[in-house]
Amino acid sequence: MITIKTDSQIACMRKANQIVRDTLNLLRDHTKAGVSTWELNILAHEYILSQNAKPSFLHYNGFPASICVSVDCEVVHGIPSKRKILQEGQIVSYDCGAIYEGWHGDAARTVGVGLISPECQQLIDVTEQCFFKGVQSIVAGETRLGDLGHVIQSYAESFGYGVVRELVGHGIGREMHEDPEVPNFGIAGHGMRLSEGMTIAIEPMINMGTARVDWMEDGWTVKTKDRKPSAHYENTVAITSHGVEILSL
Ligand code: MG
Ligand code: MG
Repeated sequence: MITIKTDSQIACMRKANQIVRDTLNLLRDHTKAGVSTWELNILAHEYILSQNAKPSFLHYNGFPASICVSVDCEVVHGIPSKRKILQEGQIVSYDCGAIYEGWHGDAARTVGVGLISPECQQLIDVTEQCFFKGVQSIVAGETRLGDLGHVIQSYAESFGYGVVRELVGHGIGREMHEDPEVPNFGIAGHGMRLSEGMTIAIEPMINMGTARVDWMEDGWTVKTKDRKPSAHYENTVAITSHGVEILSL
């Protein structure tokens, strides 16, 4: 079911998303070679609690940590671990969610560890641009989900990148995952229209190589099938009468 939010509900979601944004900035600032992904998880967990919010990923369908940390060929849902130590030249995707007064925020960023290759930097930049090109294309009451997906897909594919099909964006509000599904691919003119009061998480997951992915035996981690790097960029947005507001920026 798609839920339409009032201005005051969107204001609550703004607060949740600002906490997520600040957590991601904190993670970015602590990204360096030698740090374990578990340390980063603790940092995020404690920050979210200090803001009177709850980390929504912790125990979600049994997930054992407060953030997802996905390195290099890991697309999403990487599990933080004391044995997973960041190394110079890697790229790391942080996905974070928080609940504040019953409302959800959800966002993700990919950053480099120290000096990274120009190829990896381009992948990160293009993934971010995919999000902004998608958002800029939205006209409330007109743009369809297929239009949005088509904008993101065609931009990513113009660089020869693969757009993950098995994982998509989503509606968000009182629940982290609400209807509708928001794919990063699509056919222009198809799908439901995005209308005022809808809040959705738009989250391109873009692979340097093949679009295809593998699920790991831990039941969570998703990797690219060719083990080439992948980047993830996500924000929660609200469709309003005065345009699209990015709540987690
Ligand atoms: Mg997310
Ligand atoms: Mg999401």
